[in-house]
Amino acid sequence: MTKEEIKKELRQRLRDTYALELEDAGPVELFYSLGGLVKAVSNEKWQKTWKNYLTEGQKQVYYFSIEFLPGKLLKSNLLNLGILDEVRTTLADINVDLEELANVEKDMALGNGGLGRLASCFMDSIASCGLPGNGNGIRYDYGLFKQQFMDGYQVELPDEWLKRGNVWEIRRESKACDVHLFGNVYMKRLANGKLEPVEENQTTVRAVPYDTGMIGYQNGIVNTMRLWSVEIPVSEEAKYHNLGERRTIEDLTAVLYPDDSQESGRLVRLAQEYFFVSAGIQSIIRYYKKLNLPWHSLSEKIAIHINDTHPAMCVPELMRVLMDENGLNWEFAWDITVKVLSYTNHTIMAEALEKWPVYLMKRVVPRIYQIIEEIDRRYVMSMQGIHPQDLIQRTRLLQNDQIYMAHLAIIGSHSTNGVAKIHSDLLKTIVLHDFYVVYPERFNNKTNGIAERRWMQLANEPLSDVMDELITDSWRKAPQNLKLLMNYQNDEIALKKLREAKLVKKEELASYILETTGIQVSPNAIFDVQIKRLHAYKRQLMNLLHILKLYFDIKDNPEIDLTPRVFIFGAKAAPSYSYAKSIIKVINEAADMINNDASLQDKIKVVFLPNYNVSLAEKIIPAADVSEQISLASKEASGTSNMKLMLNGAVTIATLDGANIEIKDAVGDDNIYIFGLTEKEVYNYYENQDYSSQKIYDEDEELQRILDAFIDGTIPNIEFEGQEIYDSLLKFNDEYFLLRDFHDYARAQEQIDHDYKDAVLWQKKSLANIANAGGFSADETVKAYAEDIWQIEPIFAHTEKEGTTNGSHPF
Ligand SMILES: *Cc1c(COP(=O)(O)O)cnc(C)c1O
Repeated sequence: MTKEEIKKELRQRLRDTYALELEDAGPVELFYSLGGLVKAVSNEKWQKTWKNYLTEGQKQVYYFSIEFLPGKLLKSNLLNLGILDEVRTTLADINVDLEELANVEKDMALGNGGLGRLASCFMDSIASCGLPGNGNGIRYDYGLFKQQFMDGYQVELPDEWLKRGNVWEIRRESKACDVHLFGNVYMKRLANGKLEPVEENQTTVRAVPYDTGMIGYQNGIVNTMRLWSVEIPVSEEAKYHNLGERRTIEDLTAVLYPDDSQESGRLVRLAQEYFFVSAGIQSIIRYYKKLNLPWHSLSEKIAIHINDTHPAMCVPELMRVLMDENGLNWEFAWDITVKVLSYTNHTIMAEALEKWPVYLMKRVVPRIYQIIEEIDRRYVMSMQGIHPQDLIQRTRLLQNDQIYMAHLAIIGSHSTNGVAKIHSDLLKTIVLHDFYVVYPERFNNKTNGIAERRWMQLANEPLSDVMDELITDSWRKAPQNLKLLMNYQNDEIALKKLREAKLVKKEELASYILETTGIQVSPNAIFDVQIKRLHAYKRQLMNLLHILKLYFDIKDNPEIDLTPRVFIFGAKAAPSYSYAKSIIKVINEAADMINNDASLQDKIKVVFLPNYNVSLAEKIIPAADVSEQISLASKEASGTSNMKLMLNGAVTIATLDGANIEIKDAVGDDNIYIFGLTEKEVYNYYENQDYSSQKIYDEDEELQRILDAFIDGTIPNIEFEGQEIYDSLLKFNDEYFLLRDFHDYARAQEQIDHDYKDAVLWQKKSLANIANAGGFSADETVKAYAEDIWQIEPIFAHTEKEGTTNGSHPF
């Protein structure tokens, strides 16, 4: 597209839609017009892509995830279409700032954190690698809550992201399907002696898909992310004459559950899970039947991935559709189901491993419950004489009137993977060891990755420009080529350029901090960043304990030689997670105390930026010097903000947890700061039950002073929260071993303080992190999934043909 064409198109759209001339349009009209233009460009490629999949008979993967967290799409779409620069300069010609337009777009925040963001990074990478893959999820009317602070407390406001309409989605009424909930089911014996399920008194809801094009990076591929929204079927309208009853139905896809790593056991959540699973499976089978292939070929054309346990009902739902709706027998249907499905485990935290009470499942999806019972019965039977009774009992689906969803996903699929080496090993040796005994061949590792295009090319243009200058722009298509940067480790000019690029982003963030919080920070200070959901296991509190240590150090010795540091937090707490909210409150109060104490001479500042989301991450990450990845070893399955920060030249301070271990292996011991207990030491404490935080406290004056600050009025306005936190650390024996790791953490921080003073030394470390981040590209991750688990192959744009089939959209 030329500049003139872009201008002409924009003019036309502004006239057609808003009756405005280009010169009179505001950012909102311009954003929607530009979005429409982008959509028109990508729709052509989208149509070609799916016709291509159809004519080539490509096997496709369907990635089922209850969360997607794409953030904003305008710039990403422009970049991937290869027209970002043209559009930017065209707009500049008419005095419009692309950034201003881009800011009109609301973040699509249909996820809580890492899980949803991973799904979206995968969508980007799957399309960019030319892989035939589709997302399947829920179109929540309200995304993750907006976070504000009032008196230091988190306040949650609704996220009305659809208020002005979503420019990227296409409502596909013709692809809607019915989903049945509630009612009852009984088995009827037919004349031929076979049993047939009869379902009665069900509530039928309409699932309407909204499709969004997932545009590949400059390769002509556009895949589909399909999100389902609930509606009342026209045929049922008459039943719902009162508004309250209508709301009950419509509530099904109204809100995203704001819990992260917490099981959220409520009826609506279970109904949500079944709703998007059933609609997705039905539409896949509908598509498959159009191919006119025998059932046994299903697994040659379709792979379905279960992202965490929320979509685990894929197992019984696929069984139901194959048996009840298409007449397959159990054995045949089961064989197909196991071949088609695969599952990723995302956590070892017990409270996040989903279990549903039998009574609830029976009530919400009675037929699905029947099938689950039968899967359980057959599993137990098939294991007799092969494995010991106790192992069979521990691995079955049904235990103590509960359904273990992870067990369902493992038994009903051919692959179970963890998301980092240590995590996959823990699954095999501890968490899912019994299943590893039963199905050793099903277990594998796929270390998470990130869409490096978004986190570098879009988020950090100054650094991207330096990279182009130093190593040419091949890294943009092939992230592995970032490695070439290693050739510049001793090049002082290159190091200086990298340093200057970082400074640009730090200055931008400093302005943002001033605007949003009124806090003045110096871009020359160390920007020390911890951004992630607020969770006890992630140990934001340990970060605060260290900040308080520095506070007392400066108070005791105002002349102390500390490198000025700004501690930056971003984190939402689940609204029901009161301990996490207390931590937010105490960080905010400590921040207030520190930022307003002139005697500290700006040596330390603490900034808690509200409403952490993808867009805020894109502002913070490029400006970070230090990346805080300090979870208790064994608790963080992988982490992905660790990868984003590394890619942007932040140096990591970390425990040996999740992907931190692989980051350490990639950058080398000199370019990362490791501290703390190992996973083995943590498990030893569990085994020996010999951890005593009280004992550590009693013998440690420094920790006494820091902990007492929570209850002796040193930190103001935290009477309740301070006591709660103090008690968690002493009375309740410090579940995440903060006190045990504290001094080693402080030691590592001191080393950072020391090393940062040597600008060249520090910049070399930073360079090594950028250079070795290519291995964490989600492109690599999805290629491994494609080869090992999904058995799908890339289709390249050069094989693009005009569609010859009048086939339907691929699902
Ligand atoms: C990457 C990302 C996360 C995940 O962060 P972790 O530190 O890996 O938990 C969460 N939220 C947002 C908005 C992200 O971009």
